[in-house]
Amino acid sequence: MGQSTNGATNGATNGATNGPTKWVYSYGGGQADGRADMRALLGSKGAHLAEMSNLGLPVPPGFTITTALCTHYLATDHSYPDDLGPQIEEALERLAQLSGRRFGCIKQPLFLSIRAGAPETMPGMMEAILNLGLNDETVEVLAKETDNARFAYDSYRRFIQMYGDMVLGIDQNEFEDIVEEVKDERALFYDTELSADDWKGIIERYKALILQELDEPFPQDVRAQLWGAIGAACSSWMSARAITYRRVHDIAEDWGTAVNIQAMVFGNLGESSATAVAHTRDPDTGEKRLTGKYLLNAQGEDVLEGNRTPYELTLDARLANGSPEPSMEELMPEPFARFRAICDQLEHHYRDMLELEFTIEGGQLWILQKRTAKRTSKAALRIAVDMALEGLISKEEAVMRVDPRSLDELLHPTLSESAERIVIAKGLAASPGAASGHLVFETKDAELFTSNGKRVILARTETSPEDVHGMHVAQGIVTARGGMTSHAAVVARGMGIPCVSGAGMIRINYQDETLTVGAEVMHKGDLITLDGRSGEVLKGEVPMEKPELTDEFATLMEWVDGIRRLKVRCNAETVQDAKAARDFGAEGIGLCRTEHMFLQEGRISVMREMIIATDAHDRERALNKLLPMQRADFAALFETMAGFPITVRLLDPPLHEFLPSEPGDIAKVARAVGVAEDVLASRIHALHEFNPMLGHRGCRLAISYPEMVEMQTRALFEAALEAAEKTGNPVQPEIMVPLVSIKEELEFVKARIDATAKKVMKKSGKELSYKIGTMIELPRAALQARKIAESAEFFSFGTNDLTQTTYGISRDDAARYISDYLRAGVVEQDPFISIDVDGVGELMEIAVERGRFARPDLTIGICGEHGGEPASIDFCEKIGLDYVSCSPFRVPIARLAAAQATLRRHQRT
Ligand code: PEP
Ligand code: MG
Repeated sequence: MGQSTNGATNGATNGATNGPTKWVYSYGGGQADGRADMRALLGSKGAHLAEMSNLGLPVPPGFTITTALCTHYLATDHSYPDDLGPQIEEALERLAQLSGRRFGCIKQPLFLSIRAGAPETMPGMMEAILNLGLNDETVEVLAKETDNARFAYDSYRRFIQMYGDMVLGIDQNEFEDIVEEVKDERALFYDTELSADDWKGIIERYKALILQELDEPFPQDVRAQLWGAIGAACSSWMSARAITYRRVHDIAEDWGTAVNIQAMVFGNLGESSATAVAHTRDPDTGEKRLTGKYLLNAQGEDVLEGNRTPYELTLDARLANGSPEPSMEELMPEPFARFRAICDQLEHHYRDMLELEFTIEGGQLWILQKRTAKRTSKAALRIAVDMALEGLISKEEAVMRVDPRSLDELLHPTLSESAERIVIAKGLAASPGAASGHLVFETKDAELFTSNGKRVILARTETSPEDVHGMHVAQGIVTARGGMTSHAAVVARGMGIPCVSGAGMIRINYQDETLTVGAEVMHKGDLITLDGRSGEVLKGEVPMEKPELTDEFATLMEWVDGIRRLKVRCNAETVQDAKAARDFGAEGIGLCRTEHMFLQEGRISVMREMIIATDAHDRERALNKLLPMQRADFAALFETMAGFPITVRLLDPPLHEFLPSEPGDIAKVARAVGVAEDVLASRIHALHEFNPMLGHRGCRLAISYPEMVEMQTRALFEAALEAAEKTGNPVQPEIMVPLVSIKEELEFVKARIDATAKKVMKKSGKELSYKIGTMIELPRAALQARKIAESAEFFSFGTNDLTQTTYGISRDDAARYISDYLRAGVVEQDPFISIDVDGVGELMEIAVERGRFARPDLTIGICGEHGGEPASIDFCEKIGLDYVSCSPFRVPIARLAAAQATLRRHQRT
């Protein structure tokens, strides 16, 4: 969620509110000070703990320190406001009353868990510190109380380890090394084999490590422990990971994190205790079934850490994977049944699929955390549609819940089942999708290859925030290290690109630029494929298949089409592309780039003849050869589009693009065309321009060579008449003139088109209605839109050129340095990807207003690349365009984005 929508101030930041600041919000015992809609102040975790408490669910009592405290703490050189301490003491007193245990007391001591929790769940925040309040004295009490010394000392050492890492900044591994040493000394293999005395010994070594590293003993004072943890939670807001995440996800720096302090419940109190993570629906497929894993007699993050293998929660899942271990449903039927009922209750309350962490302590169920569950794109779509069909949400909400960009993934090819697969390594299936590309190891190479039009796969031992730019341009990521929550995995999922993480058998040598797996050595530039679904890394480029679109997809698209106002057309010039676009729901062709037709086999040499021609006669001869080819191409398109409109653009690029530039090729082409090499060379020389993109192209060609316009128009009209006759569908050609900036340019070309159309119609004896319009792709055209609209029946924004000419940045070279701009924060978005609303957007608004002033029924669309980009589509809706046009695979994305744009407009009005 972006700054604009979620940037609610945390209220107490400047202390300008009336009365004393409330820093602490308590919950528990069926009531709470906070609510779900107080995320800005209480963080997501805190707000939902409060909400669940209000719902009467079994939530361990606790309190949340607001995000305002974090802001204060960071702004005041890590100091606390005077009134915070008393409020915390008051909250602790309330906890004592609710739990019957008192923090720091020797009799029945209370233990706490501490977690940071920002308004948006984000990586880099301080994770849980459990068992806070344990010290040399209280550990003895806990041992006696539970009659389980092993449990008590294990809990104490876990606490020291978590505190040592997150508050004192000592590397986790140093603690782990001590455990390993002791196991080696004692010739033991598993942690579970360590006795109470072993843990006691380990605790002493932990303490010695801390004393040695910090010159200070581990704090025995439980209040000092608490304040240390609060400070660390606040500071984690500024961790490098959190900062990068905020930058990438457009989250404001001044939100701050809340701190959640909660009474401990123990999942490791014996065989009637457990800890678990569950999803109310399947997060991979979206199926409506409770999924999840649990660990018996375990605490906190054990399920996620993966040291022990967790078991299935449900009987169905256990049977499905043939596990001999009992499911929680079988082993603890009562608390499980209660949990299942709570899942239903919470899904109805929150109207979404949830991820829940819970603990069973001596048979008693406690809900520890609720999150809106992350899900694959496929699951997101299915859940949105299912929930609407179940009546939990409206169709409109379902439409709003599917990220248009995520369709990209559903629509993306998957590896072909029948293709030969040379699997060289396997890692975690960390982010779905599949991709092939050239292997690169560094961000700079990723950017370089990409700017040369090559797709890349970025391979790293592990990724860090410095790699984010390389990841952005890559088609996929593979890492040798790192789990499902590693930087690579989290960022790749966020970007929607495939990722295989933790492929431990891979060795990456950055010096040699090699990726080695056993005897297999791959070099920079080699082709490699990733399957983010299976976690496989494959050699070479593996054939891919079109994805199968599900019923849910069809249902969603039906709703989308019932909502959206903008029409969606496609940019296509081949029958194959046009067919694909029709299958994806395109409602016409918004841009047929005729030059692409000339680049096809058999046409290019005739085109060259035409360009090389030195007089009108020779040119006409070549054009006469091109005519039937063009006519056949247009006729096929008309048939494919079956009555939908087709906008055909006259020849646009500078002519030199059709001619060779390498000396060897010049000789070859000269032979093929039948001219002397020096004739061709001198023609190429004559066509040379210093700034071809600002050169002799677009309508300027039409003015120099009107016979080309005549040929194209004749081919189009003859094809239209032919198709109308053959199919019986009405055919209305739309001819679009490119790169107009002066009304008279358009009028000159229009006169040629009209005259040719008249001739064709007269000859055939049939009438055909047609439209002539222009692209708006130069600032002058936008400014002169009123005059131009007197002659144009439609406009189509060519935002590729409009962006190029508004910024004065070459669209072909921009990629080389736009990444520097993005890194430096000079621009937030690449303006060639998402419309620059402030500049290019203003010109578009002007053109719309002035164009419609002259001609109220002027049809206006967009056919630049932005036509398939959701944020740009939103802008097109805002300024009242009639349609967007984009490449075929982006048509469904555009349809969905258009529907969302319409819904947003309704919300605004
Ligand atoms: C444009 O400039 O946006 C456009 C669609 O034309 P082309 O990309 O062919 O220049
Ligand atoms: Mg253009």
